[in-house]
Amino acid sequence: MTVQKILTFKDAGVTTGDPSMTIAEVCNRLAEHRIGALVMTDERRNVVGIISERDVVRVIANGGGGALADPASRHMTRTVTTCNLRDTVGDVMEKMTRGRFRHVPIVNNGELVGIISIGDVVKYRMAEIEREAAEMRSYIATA
Ligand code: AMP
Repeated sequence: MTVQKILTFKDAGVTTGDPSMTIAEVCNRLAEHRIGALVMTDERRNVVGIISERDVVRVIANGGGGALADPASRHMTRTVTTCNLRDTVGDVMEKMTRGRFRHVPIVNNGELVGIISIGDVVKYRMAEIEREAAEMRSYIATA
């Protein structure tokens, strides 16, 4: 299954943030949208970073409550691993495993078009495995 196919089943749109927003504002946006990471973009919608709930936990563990006023730009990850629409679920899984992160923004011709989380990967991989098993059962039954 390709990234493009997964995105057609998901809600359209990606929740993004601005690097100048504070960590407190990042927390509010993550909570409001019930998501685990915000893709940070500039005014031309280029991906310039990503900040996840793990970053927020680290920032507060290191800096205490006062760090909630820090700009996200100080703590976000700037080198973002992305996928494109033609990549497969296997490609996404490999990038997540190698990079040890659970979110991969999807970029098409330089434009941010979606995000895939580890939850999406598990959901669609499970569906694929169930479909393969059903095909195998049907093949055995009719052989
Ligand atoms: P996560 O597992 O997604 O909560 O992220 C764990 C760490 O990896 C955090 O420091 C994130 O900022 C970073 N991170 C998350 N997604 C990506 C990505 N696609 N590329 C690079 N770093 C990422």
